[in-house]
Amino acid sequence: MKKELKVSPIENGTVIDHITAGQALNVLKILGIHAGTDAVLSVIMNVRSNKMGKKDIVKIENRELRREEVDKIALIAPNATINIIRNYEVVEKRKVFLPKVIEGILRCANPNCISNAKEEPVVPKFITVSENPPIFRCFYCERIVENAAEYLI
Ligand SMILES: [Zn+2]
Repeated sequence: MKKELKVSPIENGTVIDHITAGQALNVLKILGIHAGTDAVLSVIMNVRSNKMGKKDIVKIENRELRREEVDKIALIAPNATINIIRNYEVVEKRKVFLPKVIEGILRCANPNCISNAKEEPVVPKFITVSENPPIFRCFYCERIVENAAEYLI
């Protein structure tokens, strides 16, 4: 049996493991890490996972992600695990939890929703209906969003 790919260690920072395959770049987007970043990053996509079949991994050096940052990842990768690394040791390991209310991350699929209005747009707001699979309901018009990756702002 083939072994799972072992992630080469980093000295300090955050390793996000068990990301839904294909979602690593959306994870970076949610974290606000865009092209042109000077962050030291490794993005590993579609590696073999015993648990998930395929998965993505993101390693961010010299940055410890805060809980409110990582929980947003659950929108698109509900199985993700967060490892905080200090001096090559995992000092904290946790799962992601979807916030009950999500503001300013997703846009509503309904073009007539007040959150999509051109004149006086309001900050989009969604209520979490289900955590895994992640399903959200627009606070304003009740439109359901199931594929959050397509509606990231
Ligand atoms: Zn809406």
